[in-house]
Amino acid sequence: MQDRYNREINYLRISVTDKCNFNCRYCKPDNSPSFLESKLLTDDEILKIVLGASKIGFNKIRLTGGEPLVRHGIIELVSKIKAIDGINEVVMTTNGSLLPRKIKELKKAGLDRVNISLDTLDPVKFKYITGGGNILDILESIENLLLLEMNPVKINVVLMKGFNDNEIMDFINLTKDKEVIVRFIELMPIGSHEFPFEKYYLSNNEVLKQCPELTRLDNSHIETAIYYNVPNYKGKIGLISPISNHFCNSCNRLRITSDGLLKTCLHGNVEYDLLKCIREDIEPIEDFLKNSIMLKPKSHKINQKDFQKVDRNMYKIGG
Ligand code: SAM
Ligand code: SF4
Repeated sequence: MQDRYNREINYLRISVTDKCNFNCRYCKPDNSPSFLESKLLTDDEILKIVLGASKIGFNKIRLTGGEPLVRHGIIELVSKIKAIDGINEVVMTTNGSLLPRKIKELKKAGLDRVNISLDTLDPVKFKYITGGGNILDILESIENLLLLEMNPVKINVVLMKGFNDNEIMDFINLTKDKEVIVRFIELMPIGSHEFPFEKYYLSNNEVLKQCPELTRLDNSHIETAIYYNVPNYKGKIGLISPISNHFCNSCNRLRITSDGLLKTCLHGNVEYDLLKCIREDIEPIEDFLKNSIMLKPKSHKINQKDFQKVDRNMYKIGG
């Protein structure tokens, strides 16, 4: 359905857990407490939400987290979501570490595509930024996705000044022989962690500066990224620039956190209690979603005087 600004809202991002087997320094501080099990959306509640959403025109579901693959029963959940009438696409954002063991079953269950997060190609830096991760697992996941033709395979790189801006060309070079889309994402001012926005934010213009060969592709403002390629390279580069070039006028999404709160904007602190609505049977889910869509703001307020940083860290939202 359309919101007040004529945007067709048809994409629902559901965080299925706030737990994660990594502790990325810009996302989840070490020893962060997790929500109580009783506060988390159950499989049945997630399915009820998706069913309600499908009735008002949502057709794409992204499962995220925390790390979605640590949720018990995630494969069955994918398959049940995919079976709901009107849901054309079920996709996932993951750190990729547990993917090699589960990818074939996930594909069989109906998972269409995967976005993998990978902020450095250096194994030592990778271990540091993720709080102990092994880069080989992620590289294996990318190869598996390519072999299974779960295209396009997207690799998300959060650009951080002084951490990985010296690897921009290495990431671009990945697209030479591999049919992957490397998407540089600007660091966002969300929550509290070791990589404060003020110190580590770098505009995506840096990517264009370091690689003048990047050529903007036609019709390239698809979803949130603007796409480029280096002529004759197999893959593409995407720039997701919520800070330097916001894309709010084409925002088509709602977010549900793993504790059942609905967010109409990633960069706002407004949250609507969908969990309470379901558990106390307050109103039909479709009505709750419709009312929330009508309250979706025109744009975020980053760069404006009255901007207030989002309190939740990203692992408690889903990205
Ligand atoms: N664990 C999964 C993963 O890492 O892909 C899914 C959840 S994670 C919160 C989703 C995305 O948010 C990841 O690509 C991560 O890099 C990104 N992210 C986390 N904190 C961020 C921040 N402060 N600014 C920009 N992106 C962030
Ligand atoms: Fe976990 Fe993803 Fe956050 Fe890293 S970015 S700590 S993998 S939720």
